[in-house]
Amino acid sequence: MPAFDFDLFVIGVGSGGVRAARMSAQYGARVATAEDKFMGGTCVNVGCIPKKLFVYASHFKDDFEDAQGYGWQPSGAAFDWATLVTNKDREIARLNGIYSGLLDAAGVTHFTGRARILDEHTITVGEERVTTEKILIATGGWPTKQDIPGAEHLLTSNEAFYLKQLPKKALVLGGGYIAVEFAGIFAGLGVDTELAYRGPMLLRGFDDDVRQQVAQELQKKGITLSFHSTLSAVEKRAEGDFLATFEEGRSVSTGLILAATGRKPAVADLGLENVQIAQRENGAIIVDEDYRTSVENIFALGDVTDRIQLTPVAIEEAMCFASTQFAGVRKVMNYDGIATAVFCQPNVATVGLTEEEARAQYAAVSIYRSSFRALKTTLSGSQEQTLMKLIVDDETDRVVGIHMVGSEAGEIIQGLAVAMKAGATKTMFDETVGIHPTAAEEFVTMRTKVDA
Ligand code: NDP
Repeated sequence: MPAFDFDLFVIGVGSGGVRAARMSAQYGARVATAEDKFMGGTCVNVGCIPKKLFVYASHFKDDFEDAQGYGWQPSGAAFDWATLVTNKDREIARLNGIYSGLLDAAGVTHFTGRARILDEHTITVGEERVTTEKILIATGGWPTKQDIPGAEHLLTSNEAFYLKQLPKKALVLGGGYIAVEFAGIFAGLGVDTELAYRGPMLLRGFDDDVRQQVAQELQKKGITLSFHSTLSAVEKRAEGDFLATFEEGRSVSTGLILAATGRKPAVADLGLENVQIAQRENGAIIVDEDYRTSVENIFALGDVTDRIQLTPVAIEEAMCFASTQFAGVRKVMNYDGIATAVFCQPNVATVGLTEEEARAQYAAVSIYRSSFRALKTTLSGSQEQTLMKLIVDDETDRVVGIHMVGSEAGEIIQGLAVAMKAGATKTMFDETVGIHPTAAEEFVTMRTKVDA
């Protein structure tokens, strides 16, 4: 008789939790999962997937405009928000089903409801109580809102995916991933959009050239950018009519206010206090390189540990966890060179160091930069600029940073991330023959260094 009901109990079935549960079960573990919200977590339900669908939807505005330079007259194009949301919901429901099916097929026992840790080896879900040898916390994160008068009127990305209707005007708060992505979505769908950010330039942490370029491109799309701007109060004047007042004294009237001001680890009401798990000040669960918490048999991975909040990172962490714990093969994740994309319009994608980071890390670096209008814009008349940038360590000739702002940047940088991981040098980039005519060929034809 096993000492416990399960070998592993996974709390949260988002990207990390599902992968950890499936892989552990495939390695022979008896696995249970619990979830009280949505199957597939943030990414599938209120994150990456519906966001990208909305980005596609909003980009058609540019496509219709561009088409005219190519001789097309798109007649009677009109957008219907309800159709988009309905179709998006249908696709999400399909994905929810796939996630359920994956767990079923792997022989995982799923509990629907809030799981709480009662002690090191006991979990409750509603009235049920089960015992488990190991526990994995993969509960993800949750959007935060500012603590200001009228905060109850602020929406977060969670609600933005289910709006009953689009407003005429929208105010987006924040300067990170979600803020620039949603500002682009709203603007593309015809909403008069302002992005208000407390700092001097959006996308803090990205390369400065990238940040400047994104700001210019968002403005070209008609988005109003307000920097050094901090919301101090919100007043609801009528349904869909809000007055936003800022610390700097100005007020704006708007139909919707989206707080895209960061996410916090989802640790509330998990019973962590019953097992004294060490947490950071913001609630993030502290783990070692095997995702072990301060309690020997309890583990955590993904956004709840607040390290790199990206779906593919949580998935890779889950692969390492399952292999180490249940396949007898220790796997430690390498966090270097993780590529990322921001699906603002045009997209940003990046891998490796920013110029600032590279200059701090290496004795001498060379910068190659190219800014141009892609071939497609010549007939369409679009003023969209594409930016590409390579950062090279002079001593080794290795490319240590690759950045792009432009159409399909994520698709292009994914391949280059492999090259960078493999240690590609600038000489190798130069020796690579381009594919013509593409925008991506610019990455292998940049020869002139930018003056330091
Ligand atoms: P980010 O951390 O990217 O951005 C948060 C923004 O809100 C920053 O501009 C920050 O400013 C600002 N902010 C934070 N606190 C306050 C405050 N109290 N008042 C005003 N502004 C504030 O978070 P997001 O919510 O945009 O996204 C969360 C994470 O999810 C991202 O970091 C990313 O890892 C992931 N994500 C990934 C996506 C992708 O892969 N495409 C898409 C969406 C999310 P400051 O810079 O000054 O701190």
